[in-house]
Amino acid sequence: MEILRDIAGVRAFVAAARRRGARIGFVPTMGFLHDGHLSLMRAARRPAEARAPALAPVEAVVIASIFVNPTQFGPNEDFSRYPRDEPGDLEKCRAAGCDAVFLPPVEVMYPSGHRTTVHVDALTGPLCGASRPGHFDGVCTVVLKLFSIVGCDVALFGEKDYQQLAVIRKMATDLDLPVEVRGHPIVREADGLAMSSRNVYLDPTQRVSARSLSAALAATRAAFEAGERGARTLEAVARGVIEAAPGAEIDYIEIRDAVTLAAVTQPIDTDVVLALAVRFGRTRLIDNTVLAV
Ligand code: AMP
Repeated sequence: MEILRDIAGVRAFVAAARRRGARIGFVPTMGFLHDGHLSLMRAARRPAEARAPALAPVEAVVIASIFVNPTQFGPNEDFSRYPRDEPGDLEKCRAAGCDAVFLPPVEVMYPSGHRTTVHVDALTGPLCGASRPGHFDGVCTVVLKLFSIVGCDVALFGEKDYQQLAVIRKMATDLDLPVEVRGHPIVREADGLAMSSRNVYLDPTQRVSARSLSAALAATRAAFEAGERGARTLEAVARGVIEAAPGAEIDYIEIRDAVTLAAVTQPIDTDVVLALAVRFGRTRLIDNTVLAV
């Protein structure tokens, strides 16, 4: 596995893979890797489902990046204390079958004088966009830069960051990026908590309370499957579960259009996403589920 720290190194590695006819799969991360990240890396090796089996197999080269992107953190967020473990991460990437890992220093991604920001409108307004002003501008800017550096054919993103995936798909469409943006299902701990690098911040009591996120999604899904179609009623089901969890402070719980993230008027007659963000002390966790009609 190649360990790359500069842009020229990534471009040379990818050019050599392209000369062999390889397809390039890319998994951007902020490190402190867990099974959610690793399942994205394993999935990056697999061809898209639509691919005709009769076609000759194409070599897949998988590149991951590990970069705690300062521009997507607000001034009072956890950038400086975000967990980092480079040696452990590299071992995990190796075990997951990555061919290369790109670990750029901040000066490589943002040399002094960097003045360009990518902004996707509308989709970035609600949910995490409302709680974290500027967050998605930072995400889009770094992801577009990474796409431009790596020149990947396919990039994988987890559905855990549902709004991020929607925003990046929109950016790729609007800017005609030659990249297939592929989503990957949420990977969870045995008790339902969505895996996240931030879960290490939770103390034992908060860790138990944090089960309420997936429990709230499950309770709401059960009500939906039993025929409830009122968006506000369904949100109230989720709210009830979270409010019963000690130490949980709700940032948002919202049902929105699964594609546009537009507000949903009752009754639900199109696929929606139930998205939530909840704080436990200084730790903010997110989770979501799609309710398909
Ligand atoms: P992060 O390191 O948190 O920026 O995440 C890097 C990528 O991994 C993003 O596309 C995330 O959506 C994805 N990811 C993080 N946690 C999970 C999870 N529990 N299941 C699936 N994907 C995840």
